[in-house]
Order: sequence, then C-alpha cells, then structure tokens
Amino acid sequence: MLFDEKQFKSRLTKVFDSNGLSSMLNIERVEKFVKLTEILLEENEKYNLTAIKEPDKIILNHYADCAALARVLPKGARVADIGCGAGFPTLPVAILRPDLTILGVDSTQKRVSYVNMAKDMLGLQNVNAICERAEDLGKGEMRESFDIVTARAVAAMRVLTELCLPLVRVGGKMIAMKGKNAEFELAEAKKAISILGGKIGATETVRLADDTEEIIHPLIIVEKKMKTPAAYPRAFTQISKKPL
Ligand code: SAM
Repeated sequence: MLFDEKQFKSRLTKVFDSNGLSSMLNIERVEKFVKLTEILLEENEKYNLTAIKEPDKIILNHYADCAALARVLPKGARVADIGCGAGFPTLPVAILRPDLTILGVDSTQKRVSYVNMAKDMLGLQNVNAICERAEDLGKGEMRESFDIVTARAVAAMRVLTELCLPLVRVGGKMIAMKGKNAEFELAEAKKAISILGGKIGATETVRLADDTEEIIHPLIIVEKKMKTPAAYPRAFTQISKKPL
C-alpha cells in the first residue's frame, strides 16, 4: 500500500462531508475509492496516468470533482465520457452512480486498458471503456445514442462540441467540465453548437474546497435540440484546423 488507508478514508469522508457530497458515499464506495487509489498509484509508477499523485489532492481534484458531476446526472442515464484518460470522470462516476451505464472513450489504448483493468478489479458492472476516437464513434452505430456525453480536460469547447454533440441523442445533453477560460470558449463555440444541433443550457458552477485548496469551475451544459447534420463530425485535422 502506497498510502495510509485509515487516514485516506477519514480524509475522503471529511472532504465529501464539507462539500455537501456525503449522501453519495457509503462504506462500500469508500472501500472502492481506497482500492481505486491503490490501483492508480501503483499503475502510475509504470505508466504516466495522472500528474496528481498525493492522495489528498486526488480526493479533492479527482474524486470530489467527479462527484460534483455525478450528482447532476439524470437517473438511469446512458453516459459516454469522451477522453476518459485514466478514468476521470468515468470511474468515480461509475462508483458513485450504479444506476448509470457509462462508456469511457479514449484514443490511447494504454489508458483504456488501465480503465478496464481498474473496473474489473473494483467489480464495477456499469462501466466499460473502448479505444476509439470520438469523431469516429460519432459517425458509427453509437451516433445520437447517449443521454449524456461528458468530457473533462479534452479540448477547447469549439472542438469538443464537434467531438461530443454528434453522440448525444436529441433531448439529451453534453456536459463539459471546464476551467478558467470557459466563458471565452463558450462564446467562441456558439456557432458550432448551433450548427451541430445544440443549444446552450444553464451553466452549473462547481465549488469545492479542502483545508489547503479551493476549486471553482463551471460545468457547461449543451442541450441537444436537433439531429446533427450528416456532414459532422469531420476528420480531426479539419475539426482542429478549421473549427466551426
Ligand atoms: N478526462 C481525463 C481527466 O480529466 O483526467 C483525461 C484528460 S487528458 C488531458 C485528455 C484525454 O483525451 C487523453 O487521454 C487523450 O487520449 C483523449 N483524447 C483526445 N482527443 C480525443 C479524441 N478525439 N477521441 C478520444 N479521445 C481523445
């Protein structure tokens, strides 16, 4: 064990409590977060999965942050998490919301293999990960099939919208976990959102803190109002070089 389990459990409970997230935790879920941290830190020594390596920081920046997303997701939703990397938000959301079905999508096999190994070790039945590019997935059978498509730290909103919105069913939502430039990015993405069949919804602000750090960032919500035109998503070179 690369960290103190007792201390970790107490810290996790305290941070969730003080941020109004305690109702999402139970004994079984706390045990799963202990196990996930163990797997993450062990595998991080072999592959570079996360720059955040201190358990206290992992609790706030990864687990509480993903919990803030998990609590706003509709009951029973089918969710795709684009660019899931080392399983964020995919794995914490799967732990905290067993009612959801989650597909983690990433273009890097190493990260996808890690997510699938972790979910097997945690015994999570409601999650799976696949190695695909989002823009390829958006042209195939999964097009417009998800209730919710999430993404954290993947691309600027203008580009991200073309990766995510084609996968959202009409009536569903894209939820982007964004950082400091969110307002600017959203203004820049207005045209893309409209072309791709979306409408800007209400933005939720995530406010989290522990005794050393405060995190404030928005969850940008885009509602899918109409089908995405067949021409989208384009190839990634076009999406990134000529964003809508
Ligand atoms: N969401 C994770 C997090 O918050 O820790 C990982 C963020 S990481 C900075 C971005 C991830 O997006 C990488 O793992 C990368 O492989 C993936 N990615 C980037 N473009 C993608 C695309 N077009 N389709 C699928 N995955 C993509």
